[in-house]
Amino acid sequence: MVVTHVAVALAFAVPVALAAPQFATPAAVGAIVGGVFPDLDLLVGEHRRTLHFPVFGPVLAVPGVVLAFLVPTPLTVALALALVGGGLHSASDVLGAGEELRPWERTNTNAVYDHVSGRWWQARYVFPYDGSPQDLGLAVVAGVPVLLVYDGPVRWGLGAALGVAVVYAVLRRRLVPYFERIL
Ligand SMILES: [Zn+2]
Repeated sequence: MVVTHVAVALAFAVPVALAAPQFATPAAVGAIVGGVFPDLDLLVGEHRRTLHFPVFGPVLAVPGVVLAFLVPTPLTVALALALVGGGLHSASDVLGAGEELRPWERTNTNAVYDHVSGRWWQARYVFPYDGSPQDLGLAVVAGVPVLLVYDGPVRWGLGAALGVAVVYAVLRRRLVPYFERIL
């Protein structure tokens, strides 16, 4: 789920915040933008395809991080974390379920579109579905160091998002009929 993507991306901002506190805020902002960004294709285009780049994303993150080390400014640090967060989000979607309302039925195993090979990567179900206990567990494990190191809006925002994620995880299966009515 998107909260997990944001929590994982923010976990990568933690070492930045510890090593260079003056870049803590741009690192967090970049991580949040990168963690959320791919899923904006829920709103425009085709989900898990239009804004998901499981190959280009992680590859682009490498020069992004190198640039931030060579020229550390708020902008380059934010950009590096955005590329890391977005690349990880795109590539790690393959570890979840396919594009389906009832992922536990495994009716569509297309996980994320690989623009390089021009085909869908198949879901690995390491995290069986969005909002599954495994998914929530990862969000919490990734989120705890963020909550400890950051304060202010990052801590409270992530704390609130994790609270919503717990409710979502509890209700996930029961929400399906409502999702179907909306769609
Ligand atoms: Zn995604």
